[in-house]
Amino acid sequence: MNCNCIKELEQKLAKHYSEQLGVAAQVECQDVALILTGNSMARRLKNAFQVTAQSKGFIKGKTIPVTGSYCPFCGKAVVPKPAEPATEAA
Ligand SMILES: [Zn+2]
Repeated sequence: MNCNCIKELEQKLAKHYSEQLGVAAQVECQDVALILTGNSMARRLKNAFQVTAQSKGFIKGKTIPVTGSYCPFCGKAVVPKPAEPATEAA
């Protein structure tokens, strides 16, 4: 992700539940996919879609993960846009 929303939400929820329960709580987002980007791994929110077809492995449905291009919490693009080349003034 191009932001820290998942980590920040995990921390806010852990604080909230720790206060509410009176004991330390840990929170970990469960709808996260690990994506290899270059030489590192990135966490991205994922949604599950079910594909059903009359084909081996798909007859009862097969769940596939799909990640979005933008963070649903802050709206930033998941992958930073490459810098646009400088244009010469006419
Ligand atoms: Zn975000």
